[in-house]
Amino acid sequence: MKRVCAIDRVGVFLLLLVGMLPLQAQSLEERVDALLSRMTLEEKIGQMTQLTVHAVSSQPETVEGRHQLDMKKLRRALVEYHVGSILNVYDAAFSVAHWQELIRTIQSVAREETRLGIPVLYGIDAIHGMNYAREAVLFPHALAQAASRDLELVEKAQEITAHQMRTCGIPWNFYPVLGLGRQPLWPRLFETYGEDPYLVAKMARAVLRGLQGDAGPGQPLAPDRVAACAKHYIGYSFPLSGKDRTPAWIPERQLLELFVPPFRVAIQSGVLTVMANSGEVNGIPVHSSYRLLTELLREKLGFTGFVVSDWQDVIRLYTRDHVVASRLEAAETSVKAGVDMSMVPFDVSFYHDLLYLVRQGRISEEAIDRAVRRILRVKFAVGLFENPLPQPELADAIDGKEAHQLSRRLARESIVLLKNENGFLPLKRDVRLLVTGPTANRKSVLNGGWTYTWQGSDERYYPEAHPTVLSALQEEFGSDRVLFAQGASFDSLLDVEHAEALARRADVIVACLGEPAYCETPGNIHDINLPRAQWELVHRLARTGKPIVLVLLEGRPRIITPIVDEVQAILVGFLPGPEGAPALAEILAGKTNPSGRLPITYPKYPNTLVPYDYKSTEADDSSKVAFLYPFGYGLSYTRFDYSNLKVEPAQAPAGNPLIVQVEVTNSGSRAGRHVVELYLRDQVRSVTPPVRQLKRFAAVYLKPGEHKVVRFRLSREDFLFIGRNNQPTLEPGDFEVLVGPLRAHFVLVSPANESIH
Ligand code: BGC
Repeated sequence: MKRVCAIDRVGVFLLLLVGMLPLQAQSLEERVDALLSRMTLEEKIGQMTQLTVHAVSSQPETVEGRHQLDMKKLRRALVEYHVGSILNVYDAAFSVAHWQELIRTIQSVAREETRLGIPVLYGIDAIHGMNYAREAVLFPHALAQAASRDLELVEKAQEITAHQMRTCGIPWNFYPVLGLGRQPLWPRLFETYGEDPYLVAKMARAVLRGLQGDAGPGQPLAPDRVAACAKHYIGYSFPLSGKDRTPAWIPERQLLELFVPPFRVAIQSGVLTVMANSGEVNGIPVHSSYRLLTELLREKLGFTGFVVSDWQDVIRLYTRDHVVASRLEAAETSVKAGVDMSMVPFDVSFYHDLLYLVRQGRISEEAIDRAVRRILRVKFAVGLFENPLPQPELADAIDGKEAHQLSRRLARESIVLLKNENGFLPLKRDVRLLVTGPTANRKSVLNGGWTYTWQGSDERYYPEAHPTVLSALQEEFGSDRVLFAQGASFDSLLDVEHAEALARRADVIVACLGEPAYCETPGNIHDINLPRAQWELVHRLARTGKPIVLVLLEGRPRIITPIVDEVQAILVGFLPGPEGAPALAEILAGKTNPSGRLPITYPKYPNTLVPYDYKSTEADDSSKVAFLYPFGYGLSYTRFDYSNLKVEPAQAPAGNPLIVQVEVTNSGSRAGRHVVELYLRDQVRSVTPPVRQLKRFAAVYLKPGEHKVVRFRLSREDFLFIGRNNQPTLEPGDFEVLVGPLRAHFVLVSPANESIH
């Protein structure tokens, strides 16, 4: 094995010495300083460079998973260019064993063949479980998780994801996505936790606890946890056109009031890294925005970790955005704006450019030190220096029974019952079903993008045993009771006559509609309507006179208005994952009582894409917006009644805490989980108020006839809005809390108008 670069023996000796000191004796900060002081400029800039694993792999690669590292390329990258970080998977998910071998090889070159032995920080998109490891247990996607409103399960799923990643040897997850899902056309909507900032912020906290654990600030993470990456900072999720990576226009007030809170919570929860928004906000590509990446993110929100660029987005300032005239300027602008690490990711151009810029005096070495310090801090925080290798002893988390059960529980809670005419569901055990439609017999439609492959659409990579809706219903109701006809593909009718013929022999039709798997730009659409062929399938089946249960599997709310009246019941799963089909079958059979709540508003019309917290001017004559189903909507097989809503005190000085309580009774005949949501309405304020805003939620489990009192405490922050001066503002006056169908009025009195800076 040829050494490309001689090891600095003194450096190694010092590092060993440092390593031999008891860890407690040296703070993380001291370790960072000690290492940084030994690094050359080239070594520092290498740490700021991130390559895709493709760049260090042999060509050509095959989708059969015969991936191989190219040792020559790897050594060049790590030893010659001091590259500090690698990401991604090659084409399709690796086995855990392959990940372990890959990481061991990379780290052995980094540790044994580079002068300072700094381990590589490997990053991956483990979006719904460690989705790039073949044996990993996957979970519902974020949008589905948000429908569950179950913070405990969400946290646990992330903890398992962290275990799975560490088993593979990967300590950095490009997750969570904290953009607000307020643009239903956007092909990454399913990666978000929905349209409401409070809900997204609650999810953010749970996800971060799950991924990073509860290490305090400046403390290393436990060895089974990973660094999280809050992305895509900021405004990426709100492209005006609905197409991925296209301009967002977000006024300052909206940015601060809606888009900032989830990131603020992530920062308060100690998120170690942030990924910049790949697009532009108000005409400024975020990778070039000092205001967003430094003034807002660091100076105002207090972020101390490092900022990684998104895929190629430094170079794109030049090649795509045309805000700079050369690649060199792109590197200069992004680093000066606040990017610490560039996901280049195919070559070392960033390394060369940055080196040149520093040598020319266009970027100071202090700026480089600042960025590298932040990166090293994360490397120390995830324990890479002590433990850079895979941890096979954590393998219990892979394929573990508990993980599968958790995925099933989340899937159950994430499915939303939108319609149930005259209690049509659950189905009787002895019905004969026709199962039909494009999402009936596919695995990928339950999982969407980021599943085994980037697009998630290649069914060859899904495990043989992965259930589809069809196979799960066969299992649940018996194969002899389940007929099947495809009926339609995603956008054209297929054997519809066959489906009609079988429908006549069935008691109930289960029409499975929705979307194929996709993510990012390939998922762009021109029309939010569900393709007409799918509507047509339902029209044709409805004419048979047989009742229809509509099962929707989709990553965003495709419009179903023309078929809603033709079906007796509707269930929607926003990519409920590998356990989604059995969970649906349990719900159809009545073994599980559905409890999911919409994390986004389901639109009725393609040109009324308005979230639930609209302004009263957006309402029509009926003083409502024409939604099909608003955010928070979701039915159950039982009935929950609300009574005795009280706010105490009913008049209070602004800023004092308030207690809201309500009694919830299960007045139906089945036990059930129910999510109680509290909304606030500010009656008068100096910036037009939304009609309501979610402020709290809590789940209760009630047996038939049982009731519980649910208490919420509202505090000062709940009444703040971004005022006319763009500062958080609290104005006393009349308010209303809305819980279920109940409303209670209360008044906040003095102190007089207050601005908090
Ligand atoms: C996506 C990011 C992702 C990155 C690395 C980009 O295309 O926008 O969300 O983390 O690729 O896979």
